Amino acid sequence: MTNKNANLPLDDSSCGWYSALHDLPAAKRLQGQQRADYAVIGAGFAGLAAARRLAEQLPEARILLIDAQRVGYGASGRNSGFVIDLPHKFALEHPDPAHKQRLLGLNRAAISQLQGLVDQHGIDCQWSHAGKYQGAVGPRGQAYLEHFAKLMKDLGEPFEWVDRGALAKVIGSQHYSQAIFTPGCYLMQPAALVNGLARSLPANVELLEESPIQRLESDANGGWVLHGSQGRITTPKLLLGTSIFTQEFGYLRNRLLPVMTFASWTRQLTDAELAEYGGQLDWGLTPADHAGTTVRMTQDRRLIIRNTYKHVPKYGRSTSDAMRQQIARDHRKAFVARFPQLAAVPFTHTWGGVYAISRNFTNFFGELQDGVFASACDNGVGAAWGTISGTLLADLAIGADSSQLRDIQAVTGMPSLNPPEPFLGLGVRSRIRLAAFNSRSEI
Ligand SMILES: Cc1cc2nc3c(=O)[nH]c(=O)nc-3n(C[C@H](O)[C@H](O)[C@H](O)COP(=O)(O)OP(=O)(O)OC[C@H]3O[C@@H](n4cnc5c(N)ncnc54)[C@H](O)[C@@H]3O)c2cc1C
Repeated sequence: MTNKNANLPLDDSSCGWYSALHDLPAAKRLQGQQRADYAVIGAGFAGLAAARRLAEQLPEARILLIDAQRVGYGASGRNSGFVIDLPHKFALEHPDPAHKQRLLGLNRAAISQLQGLVDQHGIDCQWSHAGKYQGAVGPRGQAYLEHFAKLMKDLGEPFEWVDRGALAKVIGSQHYSQAIFTPGCYLMQPAALVNGLARSLPANVELLEESPIQRLESDANGGWVLHGSQGRITTPKLLLGTSIFTQEFGYLRNRLLPVMTFASWTRQLTDAELAEYGGQLDWGLTPADHAGTTVRMTQDRRLIIRNTYKHVPKYGRSTSDAMRQQIARDHRKAFVARFPQLAAVPFTHTWGGVYAISRNFTNFFGELQDGVFASACDNGVGAAWGTISGTLLADLAIGADSSQLRDIQAVTGMPSLNPPEPFLGLGVRSRIRLAAFNSRSEI
């Protein structure tokens, strides 16, 4: 099989998390002819976990992990940094309790794996067992919270109601009428975490960055040739941790939807601003109504606002500086509504990141064709999911069996087909606009 040249990732250069990294080693690029026992494309959560597991299980094997950009430059380094144990909002509605328990177990396995690696390698990434608030601004958000509380009771998971006053003591804002606190979520600095994971890979993994794979081709021996601009890799087995870009290699065509969401952060608050702010450090709040606004305070005194969704058929190329400037102005409104006492504190960075959703909210995990495996489409919550699905994808590729592997196979499936263009684009854009309109009081 040969595919046309892939549309490659192109993220903006204004991600706050990535800009805060320092002492990055020089990138090693793909050059010349290489052979690998296993090649993994994509060094986000999924690809990093897959490469690590392959290396641990097969210490004699040569594993190449390749990314088009630097590690941490893609979505895995530009997200809001919540590592969530609970099933995703749509999965929480699933009628089968066993399905939800499997998801919970898989996410918790991912968290404990990440915790172990952070401890073992001393990864400096603001890793913290902070839990998570889910906040309602008005009646619409409150209705979502009531529904969420019922789902949590059905699941048998602990949660606490937090009123406006108690929440304000933590988050320094009176903006929310109520929240639900769930204790199982961890927070982190995503670009620092994925960089720490990449720099601590076993010695038999070679990381190649700034090395976009433009084309895949099957070879005469039933293996694969990965073509880059300055070199190529021959391998019998290929694992794709390429999220939405999986479709660029000709797989899961017309089944994934490329979506972008955006974040802005402030500079680090001064001592005086911190006193004005009046809340604590190191917390995270997601919106009760999912079209609302996510807010975080980092351990190093920055406030973050995340909202706005865009359908991005050309990924990063579908955005522009003007679009990001408008989004930064919208973020500003959400920020000042929450923290009027900090209205003079500027944002230093506004960035976006692209990920995949599917119309039936189903994640793909498995073998796409002989020797090609993929985990793709996490519906926007990929820190825990990417980690566990990447790990288990490696197990699948080497023929290992485990109860976790059977669990992930039971909860994943085939993302449903999209309608053809122009109906798809029109439909997605009008759905995003309608959700934003309905949720305007929660944004
Ligand atoms: C603003 C924002 C906030 C978010 N907040 C959260 C959150 O708080 N918690 C959470 O769990 N999730 C969150 N997400 C979603 C999360 O970031 C993604 O689900 C996750 O990063 C997916 O991980 P992944 O490894 O599957 O894919 P990615 O991180 O997208 O990694 C895929 C990698 O493949 C590389 N690649 C693609 N094509 C090629 C090619 N042809 N050649 C070589 N390399 C290639 C890319 O450069 C990229 O590095 C958020 C996303 C955004 C944008």
